[in-house]
Amino acid sequence: MNLTEIRVRALQAPRDNLRAFVTLTLDGTFVVRDVRIIEGPQGLFVAMPSRRATGRCAACAGHNHLRARYCNDCGARLPSTPMEEAEGVSPEARLHTDIVHPISREGREQLEAAVLAAYAAELDGGAESERRSPRCDGANPGRGASAEG
Ligand SMILES: [Zn+2]
Repeated sequence: MNLTEIRVRALQAPRDNLRAFVTLTLDGTFVVRDVRIIEGPQGLFVAMPSRRATGRCAACAGHNHLRARYCNDCGARLPSTPMEEAEGVSPEARLHTDIVHPISREGREQLEAAVLAAYAAELDGGAESERRSPRCDGANPGRGASAEG
């Protein structure tokens, strides 16, 4: 995997544990957006783009967020999902599914090291990055960082 470009947009006023949004270019041909740098209990880590996992309503087959108690479509009461009790995985993590992600430990470590290095470089050039870029292609306000639950 050849990361040809890593664009980091550090948040000026970090919310919660979110520190930065990252856009990756692979082999100069494939772009992955909405990668996030999160500050966790063990330090910084890289979160891949994810979507909320959904479950199907038994009554109408409508898709619902796993935490939903009632179906959004038909109002039927939904059972608590066994996924939430999966062993060794926090309920919070189980509620999201990565859309794009490395499939090997080596791939993950390589990607994480490269992204965190780019983030550190971005912080070093702090004065530079505080100027707002006139381009708006990286900004996506209102999505991605919304509070969950
Ligand atoms: Zn339903």
